[in-house]
Amino acid sequence: MKIEIIPCLEDNYAYLIKAGEHCAVVDPSEAAPVNAALDRLGWEPSFILNTHHHIDHVGGNLELKKEYGATIVGPGKDAARIPGLDVGVDEESGWEFAGEKVRVLEVPGHTRGAITFVIGGNAFTGDTLFSLGCGRLFEGDAPTMWASLSKLMSLPNATRIYCGHEYTESNGRFALSLEPGNSALGARMTEVKNARMEGWPTLPSTMGQEKKTNPFLRPDSWEIRKALGMTNADDADVFGEIRRRKDNF
Ligand code: ZN
Ligand code: FE
Repeated sequence: MKIEIIPCLEDNYAYLIKAGEHCAVVDPSEAAPVNAALDRLGWEPSFILNTHHHIDHVGGNLELKKEYGATIVGPGKDAARIPGLDVGVDEESGWEFAGEKVRVLEVPGHTRGAITFVIGGNAFTGDTLFSLGCGRLFEGDAPTMWASLSKLMSLPNATRIYCGHEYTESNGRFALSLEPGNSALGARMTEVKNARMEGWPTLPSTMGQEKKTNPFLRPDSWEIRKALGMTNADDADVFGEIRRRKDNF
């Protein structure tokens, strides 16, 4: 399976997935850069996958659907808000790509209908999980988002994380403010700064890497709890406080 990372808009990523003759586009915020990548590679997508309804993830849906006759697959629970949706999926239905089962995880919080596609050891998390961060709570509360992130944390550590935005460096500055003593985080930030200086994506990350460095997956960290004065609180409450602090960082 080949995965191409396509920078879109300011800091979005769309992805191309190719397995044999099968090709899918994930979260095309706009059609032009996706078309350019497809032309360069000589690939033709038969599917468009959407992790959630926000315009910076579905903006290219209709143009690409028209151009390639692609089938649009997205959260069934958000069918009304996904332009051109053909196939609504959920945890129960899952999906299938190139003859392989695809896991669909329902991860509400950033939006009510948000899903993550897990395709052959690759998780397309949209704006639910970022590298060193997580999405804002537009349509869910902290316990809901914490449950969604916990669900993602049950994926194997080797799972590659392909998320919706290049936010890693600014996320990392916040992460270091809470957990300056986390040496894995320090090492990751060096790597991230070097990659960004070269203009390279900081993705994919892995679930194992995120568990060691992403503060939103670390409400059990003693250093974070002490920094927040929440040594005895529940994980969901600590998570909620981390999210609030990030909103005001
Ligand atoms: Zn979003
Ligand atoms: Fe987004």
